[in-house]
Amino acid sequence: MKFSYVSHLYCPKCSKTYSTEEENHLCACGSPLLVTYNLDELRGKFTADDLLKRAPDLWRYHELLPVRQNNNVISLGEGMTPLVDLPALGKDMSIPRLLMKDEGVIPTGAFKARGAAVGVSKAKELGVKELAMPTNGNAGAAWSLYAARAQMSSTIIMPVDAPSITRNECALSGANLFLVNGLISDAGKIVAEAVKEKGLYDVSTLKEPYRIEGKKTMGLEIAEQLNWKLPDVILYPTGGGVGLIGIYKALQELKELGWIESDEQMPRLVAVQSEGCAPIVEAWEQGLHESSFWENSETIAFGINVPKAIGDFLVLDALYETNGCAIAVDDDSLLQEQQRTAELEGAFVCPEGAASFLAARKLREKDWIKEDEQVVVLNTGAGIKYPDTVNFEVPTLEPGDSI
Ligand SMILES: *Cc1c(COP(=O)(O)O)cnc(C)c1O
Ligand SMILES: [Zn+2]
Repeated sequence: MKFSYVSHLYCPKCSKTYSTEEENHLCACGSPLLVTYNLDELRGKFTADDLLKRAPDLWRYHELLPVRQNNNVISLGEGMTPLVDLPALGKDMSIPRLLMKDEGVIPTGAFKARGAAVGVSKAKELGVKELAMPTNGNAGAAWSLYAARAQMSSTIIMPVDAPSITRNECALSGANLFLVNGLISDAGKIVAEAVKEKGLYDVSTLKEPYRIEGKKTMGLEIAEQLNWKLPDVILYPTGGGVGLIGIYKALQELKELGWIESDEQMPRLVAVQSEGCAPIVEAWEQGLHESSFWENSETIAFGINVPKAIGDFLVLDALYETNGCAIAVDDDSLLQEQQRTAELEGAFVCPEGAASFLAARKLREKDWIKEDEQVVVLNTGAGIKYPDTVNFEVPTLEPGDSI
């Protein structure tokens, strides 16, 4: 048995193919590249039951990941996060079969660890010594820490107002860290120039084809945790949309492999954004296949503050093909939802996750989600990574006071 059944890279726009044995970024036509596998060869040789003997991390799916050699795997044990029942919150929003895929418990406290683990491992396999990326915080933290574990150096540029904890994570890892007085798109331009001049390996969102494969494992896990049945709806807080594209890709591969029955309905995928940055929602409402740059974007849910995603057409296609939708929520209401989730379920979710719970509530109110449907919400990170979003006045006692 081979460790990986990776075949090659292909362009979803113009179908040109590329090798996974050398560095490749975007297609010559400007599109991101996707990884394809020899599923025909794998089918039958390896079954879902074989997984049962494996460790509970994302490398349990190594046949469906792009790293060819086991010894290139850089891991901190990421993956196989809990799929948790939320009966009280579900009752409150009248979705009794509400589930949370909780990415808050993964190394670095956000699901970006998945993309970083697979991306850094593949970079190591390709002989990369120095990587570079723009980030809104969590990705930079994950990639710089995984790069450190791979003894690779990293250059990270993030907006000055990105969550300060992510800045510290990068700095602690020994990254060459810079802040930019602007947005992730401004950071991206500076990185692009540095990549050209210094020959750094560009791991910007979707300019590197393997991050998506790491994020894909969320979809593999959801399917495995539901015993190879699919939920009716999956809601995902969408910035660059990599997770959503990845989940969709995972479910398609599982169908092709036969681990999911071919007549099993695909879940309706929902892209959740903030009203302060909703380019995908705007495009979806107009029935378009590409989004436009969102001017002056702003939201407390920093991970989804992406004014123009390079893979927007892949996100939109996934929404159309699954009869999904895109929906925007406002910052104040998502903070209330964050509090409700903590009060009702003891789950301190990140603002992006809270946005997705709020979106589920709203879609239920519109009857877009039916009461008997099984709904999975991705909580993409831990609430404790965003201490500044919570402000309470708490009474202070003097020693000897009673309450
Ligand atoms: C990056 C990020 C997102 C958005 O992820 P994409 O796959 O880029 O859409 C959502 N939530 C959190 C916490 C993030 O860090
Ligand atoms: Zn192309």
